[in-house]
Order: sequence, then structure tokens, then C-alpha cells
Amino acid sequence: MGSSTLLARWLLHAGDTRAIAREARGETAWRDAVAAADRVAAALLDGRRSLEGERIAMLVSPGADFLACMFGVLRAGGCLVVLSPVHPPPETLYFCDDAKVETVIASPELAERVAFLAASAPSRRILTTTALLGGARAAPSIAADPGDDAPALQLYTSGTTGKPKGAIITHANLAKQQELLAEAWAWDAGDVLLHVLPLHHLHGLGIALLSAIGAGAAAHFLPFDPRATWEAMPRTTVFMGVPTIHMKLLAALDEADAATQARWIAGARSLRLITSGSAALPVTLGERWRAITGAYPLERFGMTEIGVGASNPLDPAGRRPGMVGLPLRTVGTRIVGDDGRDGDSGELWIEGPCVFVGYHGRADATRDAFVDHAAGRWFKTGDTVSRGDDGYIKILGRTSVDILKSGGYKLSALEIEEVLREHAAVSEVAVVGLPDAMWGERVVACVVARAGLESACTEDALRGFAKERLAPYKVPKQVVVMSDLPRNAVGKVIKPALVKKLG
Ligand code: AMP
Repeated sequence: MGSSTLLARWLLHAGDTRAIAREARGETAWRDAVAAADRVAAALLDGRRSLEGERIAMLVSPGADFLACMFGVLRAGGCLVVLSPVHPPPETLYFCDDAKVETVIASPELAERVAFLAASAPSRRILTTTALLGGARAAPSIAADPGDDAPALQLYTSGTTGKPKGAIITHANLAKQQELLAEAWAWDAGDVLLHVLPLHHLHGLGIALLSAIGAGAAAHFLPFDPRATWEAMPRTTVFMGVPTIHMKLLAALDEADAATQARWIAGARSLRLITSGSAALPVTLGERWRAITGAYPLERFGMTEIGVGASNPLDPAGRRPGMVGLPLRTVGTRIVGDDGRDGDSGELWIEGPCVFVGYHGRADATRDAFVDHAAGRWFKTGDTVSRGDDGYIKILGRTSVDILKSGGYKLSALEIEEVLREHAAVSEVAVVGLPDAMWGERVVACVVARAGLESACTEDALRGFAKERLAPYKVPKQVVVMSDLPRNAVGKVIKPALVKKLG
């Protein structure tokens, strides 16, 4: 067990007066955040040498306090369970019970939402950030270094079946991720990340925030609002979004007056990097960004369990619409077909230093998720992909919900969605398979009409459009127009919920 590289990188800036965080209340310097984290660590340890991997839950608003609490917990040898205000109480309770959380840290403005957790377990306590951050200054040597192999995060995956599982991610997993992303995306201490993503998800926490922090950069925290996000761009250098966020930004741009549009576009052009991940970026959205900024956004593929697996290159000329690029250095990939053989089409398996340890308390699920092969421990992602001659990977979707079997053919829901999205009257679309006696699965397209074009968004019009562009067996048998699609906190369509609704 080596000492924690993640913490060593954090402590590199212990004396730095530059900003680490910008938020509505103002800027915080690196050295103040590091000192605040020490106070949090000292308060949590309360005389002990280490929390020894104890799970500490956090419901803390994005900003400097979040960083101080997070690194305070890690410095003290604890493992974080990050909670979100968007989760309903039963889900929050499940996470805390599953992780055996005894201590919950909450921002004062969010404390009321977690008060019920203390009542549900006699030894569980709620500590506010005010109490923790206001403690006496502690010497940085208070905590024993937890080491690279220690668990740092327990993040709950939004499982499509059964209860969410707590993926255990180590200090080493996160430190390696920082290194790989610094290399792939050229993070620099002069960067300012425009941060609008939720922090209970690996995208917002490990891929966005920690990769910026690992390079000594700053984060500009903003609760996502399209107009405010556009306005903040000129003061930042990197923006990371999920497709839904990109969609909302571009819709706000369309609604803005000419002078505002010109100002926003100039701000976006000044960013050095715009990325997209967590779900497939519709090519129509990517192309709009290209028309605005001159560069197609950098799309990458990632997962809670593996971090970023593949990324398009930093050089915009090498980015391919609809593809997620090449595996990052150190990421081993296998593409395994239904026949169990390696090829260029099938399930993506990943191996390497960013792959998580396993699911907390779920030995069976952990065993099922991995395959030992050729001295490697391969994680089966559950994503079906194809690989082109140039090695670029295309995500065809989650095998469980996006790969449909209809009339004997294997179809990618994402490919059909991409085509329907090109129809002028379609604002959002999700394709699912419903059980069907004749077809095996019937291709059903759920669409949301573009405002003002509702009358053009009909089953006949969309099926006719699809027939001209897709093989007959891919054309949706049914089109259902809806007012909205069920989405999770990072904007992914919850397809099992959609199937249930239609069923
Ligand atoms: P999560 O663990 O919540 O981040 O979800 C990971 C899943 O999101 C992956 O297994 C993919 O199915 C999907 N995903 C992530 N990035 C992309 C992408 N760029 N294109 C398509 N699907 C993606």
C-alpha cells in the first residue's frame, strides 16, 4: 500500500493563494480550502488516528465547503457516500443503511432533508458543515495516510434492475483518472472548470471536479441554469456537460435576442474545451456546437465502475461525431461477441487501474461483473459497442435496454433515435423494445414534439421519415407522442420506467 497520491496532489497546493473555487458567495483560495479540510478531518477523527474506511455520507452544496468536507473525510481515512437533494428520502435512507453510515455531513440549508436519517438509526448523527468547518485549526499531520488502496468513494449506480449497488472506488482509481485526464485533455493549473453537474455521480465528481483539482485548477460552481451558464463561460476555460444540458443550452440560445446570442457565442468560443458524456450526444446537437464554436464537442465514454474508458482526441480535427474515440492509455479493452470470441462488435470489457474494486456487500454481483482472463480482471460493462478500422469505438447502447431483438435482427435503439432526431418536429426521442408475439420485440419510438410543431409530429410522418432512412426492420412499428421523457439526475432517459409506462 503506497501513500495516497490523491491526497499528495491535494496537499501540493496547501500554501497556494490562488482560487480553488468560485461560487455565488465569492472565491476561496486553495490554502483556505486545504486548511478547512484539515479542520474537518480533525473534528471527524476526534483523537483517533484514522476512520479506517468508515463510510461518511455528505449532502453538501457544490462549492468550497464540498471540497473541504470531501478532502477532510479522505484525509481522516474515511470513504465518502455522496448524497443528492434530488433523491427521495427512501432512496437516501437505503444508501445510508446499505453503507452502514453513522455520520452524515450536511450544509445548513440541506440539513432538514437528512434530519430523518438520525431518527432512523440510534447511533447515526448529523453534523453541519458550519460546525465542522468552524472547529479549531488542526496540524496537517493529524491523520495517518490512508494509502492508495483505501476506498475513497462509494457511489451508488442507478441499476436498471434491482436496488442500486455501491461501487467502491479507491484513492488509486481516482488518482490514476486524474493523471490520464490531465494527459488526454491537457488540464493545467490555469484552467477554470465551469461546473454545473451533480456531485453524487462520477461524471461531476471524479471526471470533472477531481481532474481539475488534480491539476491545481479552479472550479466555478453554478447550479445549472442555461442562461447563467452561458453568461459564466467567458470567465472559465473548460465546460463539461451531459447531452440534456447541451440540449437546454442550445434551446436557450435559440430563444435569446440577437445581442445576447452574439455575447454568448463569443463566450463559448473563448472556452478551450467543451465535453459531453454519460449518454450518447445526439449528432444534431454536436453539429450545432460545431457551427457555433468551430469545434465538435469532445465526446467520451465513461462509467461509475471504470471512470473514463475512451475519449475523442483533444485536437478537434480528430473528433468523430457519434463515436467515443479511443481507449485512454492504461485502459485495456476487449469486445466480446455473443459467441464469446473477441472481435469488433459485441460487449465492451474493460481492465486497468481505474476499474473499481467491487460492489459493497454484494459478492455475487461483483463476481458476475468480472471475468478473469489472461492475467487481467475484466469488467463487463453491459454496453454493446462496435469498433471501426481506425480503432474508434461507437456505443450502440446498454445491452439490457438499448439492444433490441426484432424479427430476428439485432437493433441499436441509439441508431434509430439518431435518425428520428433529424426530423424537424422532434425535440426528444427514446426508442424501446416492447414484448411482441410476432416480432420478439416491437420497436417503439417515444417522442416529444418540438414546441410549435406538434401537428407535424405524428406517427405517420415519423414512420414515413424513418422508412426513407432506415432498413425496414429498424423502422418503429409504433410512435408514441409524450409531453416529456422520464430522466434521472444526469438527464439519462430511464428506459425501464418508459417500458413500464407503455406496458
Ligand atoms: P454511469 O455509470 O451512470 O455513468 O453510466 C454509465 C453508462 O452511460 C455507460 O455504461 C453507457 O451506457 C452510458 N454512456 C456513458 N458515456 C456515453 C457516451 N458518450 N455515449 C453513449 N453512452 C454513454
